[in-house]
Amino acid sequence: MAADPVYEVFALRYAHHPRSAKENFVGGDPHDGPMPLDYFVWLLRGGGQEVVVDTGFSAAIAAKRGREYLRCPSEGLKLLGTDVRTVRDVVITHLHYDHVGNFDVFPAASFHLQDLEMRYATGRHMCHELFRGAFEVEDVVGMVRSVYAGRVRFHDGDTELAPGVSLHLVGGHTMGLQVVRVRTARGWVVLASDASHYYANMEQGRPYPIVHSLGDMVEGWRRVHNLADSPAHVVPGHDPLVMTRYPAPTRELEGIAVRLDVAPRA
Ligand SMILES: [Zn+2]
Repeated sequence: MAADPVYEVFALRYAHHPRSAKENFVGGDPHDGPMPLDYFVWLLRGGGQEVVVDTGFSAAIAAKRGREYLRCPSEGLKLLGTDVRTVRDVVITHLHYDHVGNFDVFPAASFHLQDLEMRYATGRHMCHELFRGAFEVEDVVGMVRSVYAGRVRFHDGDTELAPGVSLHLVGGHTMGLQVVRVRTARGWVVLASDASHYYANMEQGRPYPIVHSLGDMVEGWRRVHNLADSPAHVVPGHDPLVMTRYPAPTRELEGIAVRLDVAPRA
């Protein structure tokens, strides 16, 4: 019998936002100073298949929201040798504007989404600006269209996507946020997405201020650590430190992508 596959895992940085630390913690930050935020999508490659995690925003949305756009995530994936037209599995961790969109660049994909996330993005919570502010209605409508096109695979809780790849409902930041656990040569890595934007959120117990359920967010930090082989196996969703702790796959990809399936620098 073939051995269980291990995966190469890549983080692709596609946009950037200069901001200050007080924006990144509930209650602000007593030592307020610059604390920029990076935007990522992720790629898993192993066992003869590729899984893309999140699809990112477009240049138009970057302009609308004042974000520094480095490249379309699909361009980054091409630099990694991925043919985005043939990718079959795209995990959407949640439906916030920076994690979903660009539907047209993945014409062959099914989108893996939690039931609770669609309920959240289309239900009563969106009557409140507090909760809908990080959603783009066209992204949500795009996902509804994808449902009617037979292209959404709904999950209710934890599920195995493929041998060595599983999805886990965490919630907290949004009602249906899911994280991805993947087997690598260094053990089980967890892509926490916005279960923790920065290392500091989970390591210092200081929540990020965009939150649906604070209780679920705090419990989610414990959850992602339980799913990972060590704290060094948990990858936060927006931390620029990811780009310095992990190595680029090649010299040409310095500053564009890093390998998460190799141990981070201490
Ligand atoms: Zn995000």
